Amino acid sequence: MKKELVCIVCPMGCRIRVDGIGDALTVTGQTCRRGEEYAIAECTAPTRTVTSTLHLEDGRSVAVKTAAPIPKEKIFELMAIIRAATAKAPVRIGQVLIPGIFGTDIVATAAVD
Ligand code: SF4
Repeated sequence: MKKELVCIVCPMGCRIRVDGIGDALTVTGQTCRRGEEYAIAECTAPTRTVTSTLHLEDGRSVAVKTAAPIPKEKIFELMAIIRAATAKAPVRIGQVLIPGIFGTDIVATAAVD
């Protein structure tokens, strides 16, 4: 494997290169441990925090996100679930609107009265 990445862990945006196969991966270009961990995870089990909006019963919507990153390959399935869901106002920031999905929850990132 040979993969070049831009680290998204912090705004520095270091260019990282990963070489090798299986457990024998060599990471170069990172300037900290978090970058190495990100690169290895990105090459072995990539995850993403997903942000979206969820419909409210009154026709408005509320901004939401996953409380923790989910496997990257589950994003489209998750988006279909969010699109099909509704919640009832009022909503407070941090409120769980869809619990227990892909090992995390969908939580509100904004308040709606
Ligand atoms: S390698 Fe470290 S310093 Fe560079 S972007 Fe990633 S987290 Fe930031």
